[in-house]
Amino acid sequence: MSFRATVLTLYPEMFPGALGLSLAGRALERGDWSLETVQIRDFAADRHRTVDDTPAGGGAGMVMRADILARAIDHASPQGDPRPRLLMSPRGKPLTQAKVRDLAAGPGAVILCGRFEGVDQRVIDARGLEEVSIGDFILSGGEPAALVLLDAVVRLLPGVMGNEASGEEESFENGLLEHPHYTRPQEWEGLPIPDVLTSGNHGRIARWRRDEAGRLTAERRPDLLAASQPRMK
Ligand code: SAH
Repeated sequence: MSFRATVLTLYPEMFPGALGLSLAGRALERGDWSLETVQIRDFAADRHRTVDDTPAGGGAGMVMRADILARAIDHASPQGDPRPRLLMSPRGKPLTQAKVRDLAAGPGAVILCGRFEGVDQRVIDARGLEEVSIGDFILSGGEPAALVLLDAVVRLLPGVMGNEASGEEESFENGLLEHPHYTRPQEWEGLPIPDVLTSGNHGRIARWRRDEAGRLTAERRPDLLAASQPRMK
């Protein structure tokens, strides 16, 4: 069974979007993964197909209604569906490469995209939605976040990436940022490629790359080093 994504959204036209091109797009055409969108508005009950209402307790903005979202979720992901149900949300656990690997190894995902101020808490609790954030900033809707999450997952699916090895050397895969890259020309604007990389000495090259990765990580993301350090007794 290939990875099956179902996205619940008020803007199904945003999909597959960027995922219809390049690596992910070719994989979609081949059937290495599938993408279905569900228009949340189709589950509204009134003539105007309203999906939101004013926040209880007052304040700005609108909130997506629990009853309508629940109908959409139950339609897209009936009981027994083994796929995790995700809600894109700035309040969620920040997405990591480890989580992306986890998802890619599973049967797929049901992804709810929020809009307005967000969704009624009761549907998050009652339908066991797992909140996932793509970073500490606020988007206008969950759709770009869902595209980001799916892009990261799809490139890890078997057969999607041409060169499987490159997946394991990326930033974050070993708790480090990746070393710098260079390619021809040998000299550009007076700047040469570091000698070691053209030395042909694979041991030295590997060591240089490890050192550079360590240096960059210490400089830019000391939090990653701290997280991968074994705990002191
Ligand atoms: N009032 C909310 C923000 C709502 S933004 C708050 O302060 O937490 C509208 C929708 O965009 C959210 O429901 C969510 O689905 C999506 N969204 C916004 N920022 C996001 C982020 N960083 N990661 C994932 N989804 C996000």
